Amino acid sequence: DEHTPPSPYLAHVPDRDIVTTEGKRLTLMNPAYMLRQMMEENARLFGVKGHITSLHLTNPINQPDAWEKAVLESFQRGAKEAAAVVDIDNKPYLRMMHPFLMEKGCLKCHADTGVKVGEVRGGVSVSVPMEPFYAASRAQARNINLFHGVAWLLGSGLIGLVAWRSKRESAARERAEHAEELASHDGLTGLYNHRMFYALLKDEIARTQRYNRPVSLLMLDIDHFKRVNDTHGHQAGDAILKGLSDLLGKQARTIDRVCRYGGEEITVILPETDGDNAAGFAERLRTAVENQPFDIGDGKTVAITVSIGVATYPQQVGALENLVKAADTALYAAKQGGRNRVCRYEKGSDTPG
Ligand code: GH3
Ligand code: MG
Ligand code: MG
Repeated sequence: DEHTPPSPYLAHVPDRDIVTTEGKRLTLMNPAYMLRQMMEENARLFGVKGHITSLHLTNPINQPDAWEKAVLESFQRGAKEAAAVVDIDNKPYLRMMHPFLMEKGCLKCHADTGVKVGEVRGGVSVSVPMEPFYAASRAQARNINLFHGVAWLLGSGLIGLVAWRSKRESAARERAEHAEELASHDGLTGLYNHRMFYALLKDEIARTQRYNRPVSLLMLDIDHFKRVNDTHGHQAGDAILKGLSDLLGKQARTIDRVCRYGGEEITVILPETDGDNAAGFAERLRTAVENQPFDIGDGKTVAITVSIGVATYPQQVGALENLVKAADTALYAAKQGGRNRVCRYEKGSDTPG
């Protein structure tokens, strides 16, 4: 039919055109021609171009393009295959090409090319358009970027939220700790305050009763402190109180509780300590104070002394309420005895216990 006209390139082949006994007209078809037709159909349907080409042309329609020409030349130098991404009409294509080698049977029609058996007769190339793959790859990259972007936003948002909450919580905790510190400690000396003194003493007595262990209490008062205030001023008095508190804090064990009972009176709870040991400790405190003049600013120091009363539970006193009273009685005795001294509570010196 009109798609399969007799080939002028096969004119020299005998019986190129024949008619069957039924009258059907047949013509000899070149396999290369058939392949070209198939490839053109393929290009129309799928966009994939195939091409048979050669440096020894029979039909000029099979002319190699620049890339194919270079590849055919490389085949002549022994290359077995070529592949590359190359633009055709400014669009990217993946191109691949394999050589055709001359075989004995080819000579029937192609002897005139002068190409010998085993030599390169030509090549077949195929070109696949890359644009759809690039488009798919761009879409995928967009999706990945979008996904990562969203994940990043969510992740950093979450981290930010957690950080903000933990910051808020730690601020609240600090405020609570500060409030607790204010409620339980004295502002000037940093010692436990009067209220905490009673709470701590109550706890200690309860523990002492459970385990049948002793606990002692010291009550300490600065001697003639009024005079110190009068001579050096109230601020100097405050500095001495602070210095004295620091000294007591250093001398005490970690289990001891140093409290500001009121004014310039300081109590020390001594767990696990009997009367002898408590009196020994009180005596050490008294000497330490006597030997350490306190800084009152402007390079001046003031020496003070303290009187200390000692009482012990349950050795001398049988009830918590009376322990404080007993230590106070002993302190009074120390003052009466001439100050700068330690006195132990003596049963019968008043009526506690
Ligand atoms: P005594 O040896 O009998 O204890 O004599 P004293 O002068 O220390 O007498 P008392 O203990 O009765 O007087 C306490 C004085 O301590 C009264 C007050 O001026 C002073 N004082 C109490 N609290 C503070 C304080 O927080 N700062 C200062 N600077 N002085 C205080
Ligand atoms: Mg006093
Ligand atoms: Mg005093």
